[in-house]
Amino acid sequence: MSHQVLRELGLLENPRVVAEPSASLAKDPAYVVSENPATGKPIAAVRLDDAAAYERCVTNACDAFKKWREVPAPERGLVVRAIAEEFRRLKPLLGELVSLEVGKIRQEGLGEVQETIDIADFAVGLSRQLYGMTMPSERPRHRMYEQWLPLGPVGVITAFNFPNAVWGWNAMLAAVCGDTTVWKPSLMAPLTAIASNAIADHVATQMGHPGVFGLLIGADNVIAERMTKDPRFPLISATGSCRMGKIVGKVVAERLGRSLLELGGNNAVIVDKDADQKLAAAAVVFAGVGTAGQRCTTTRRLIVHESIADAFVERLAKAYTSIRIGDPLDEKTLVGPLINAQAVASFTHAVGLAKEQGGTLVVGGKRIEREGFFVEPTIIRAPANNTLPIAMEETFAPILYVFTFKDLDQAIAMNNSVAQGLSSALFTDSIRTGERFLSPAGSDCGIANLNIGTSGAEIGGAFGGEKETGGGRESGSDSWKAYMRRQTCTINYGSELRLAQGIRFD
Ligand code: NAD
Repeated sequence: MSHQVLRELGLLENPRVVAEPSASLAKDPAYVVSENPATGKPIAAVRLDDAAAYERCVTNACDAFKKWREVPAPERGLVVRAIAEEFRRLKPLLGELVSLEVGKIRQEGLGEVQETIDIADFAVGLSRQLYGMTMPSERPRHRMYEQWLPLGPVGVITAFNFPNAVWGWNAMLAAVCGDTTVWKPSLMAPLTAIASNAIADHVATQMGHPGVFGLLIGADNVIAERMTKDPRFPLISATGSCRMGKIVGKVVAERLGRSLLELGGNNAVIVDKDADQKLAAAAVVFAGVGTAGQRCTTTRRLIVHESIADAFVERLAKAYTSIRIGDPLDEKTLVGPLINAQAVASFTHAVGLAKEQGGTLVVGGKRIEREGFFVEPTIIRAPANNTLPIAMEETFAPILYVFTFKDLDQAIAMNNSVAQGLSSALFTDSIRTGERFLSPAGSDCGIANLNIGTSGAEIGGAFGGEKETGGGRESGSDSWKAYMRRQTCTINYGSELRLAQGIRFD
């Protein structure tokens, strides 16, 4: 089945893809093997780029930028519109490839491609709305305004868990802004990257714009680190762990470049005593176990009012134990595998530590004995003193830690007590409680929801978080401004040289 998807997406003809890697090629450091996490078996091997390929690709992106920046933005929008159409046509195949390569269930694989289509549609509209402001000049016969101009080639580094959409968010906006992109995907999802980038590159090239979408697949020390140091990239947009962001942020800052960081989360849902518990439970289950807990916005902590905690946890436990886990491409499956054996080891380690630290296992906690990298969705209750150090870390797996609270300010303080600040949610039917959560004294996260879970953001809003989540914003709203340079222009249409602040110099 996997071969058919590869064939239909043109991957079998791609010179860097080896469909049935031999044992010796699989060990060759010049290749990376993409594995199906549902079986642990190889899908195909991909030849890695070296330093010479890096140089060719970046030179190409710089040359293409010189032409692309002069194409009128609405015309750039037409190219992005045609790319969106191609993604629409290929969505079922590409969605299936996402499922094969990173283990997302079919609905989520398709949903991920839909995010790229949605942001491309958004970018098309944006291509006629890259507005600058006009401001009155204090000098007579002067006009003052600001404009947004293309920035340059953008380096895009992405995580394994959104192997298509995160690139889409960056590349589609960057394209209408007049930038070229060079994408460095995760080595855990190289096939999705090759297929996705080829779609965009093919459409743009056919429309007379080669080189707008570049791709480099290689080891971090050969490609990614070189990118972050390279002054030809005025912007590095990097999505991944806080560990990676701390390195990338520093390296880019050393050369005074810009970085847009989208890093880890440790997201909480607060459920107050007056909440609609059915609604809250459904939201916690989706955000806690969806994508097998491998979303940056996954709910990792539940902070529930002490008066309803036992009943609410019982309701959750029932849902957790009845969830269908298995082949991500089976329509009935709701939870697929973790990405690899290392992720399973991190899960097992975190569960063990939680127990040592006084946590009580409510459900789950074990690896599932079958091929692939499956684990049980897990709920762990913190001890009565609410101290559970492992819950302060992001373990990329379906583990939900449960805490209790007495009053809202205590719950908000617990929500804000972690190093990351990505997503948060509160369930309540009280306006007063809800507004307090959204007030300056409320959630400190980039995303704060009422009566909706922490995951599954729409593309129309700016996406990102505070503190160790990195502070970057991508996707909707005015996130496009990160991909452009702002220029303030003052024009004198009089015949006198007037100085600002009334200064005389004669
Ligand atoms: P990771 O940090 O291991 O890798 C992410 C990317 O960074 C990869 O392409 C990797 O090759 C690259 N990288 C690693 N070290 C680097 C270095 N020194 N210099 C340059 N590039 C480097 O993350 P992962 O395991 O692929 O993804 C999971 C993590 O990503 C989680 O922490 C998750 O929360 C986060 N994430 C965040 C968002 C968001 O929008 N905030 C979205 C998706 C995932």
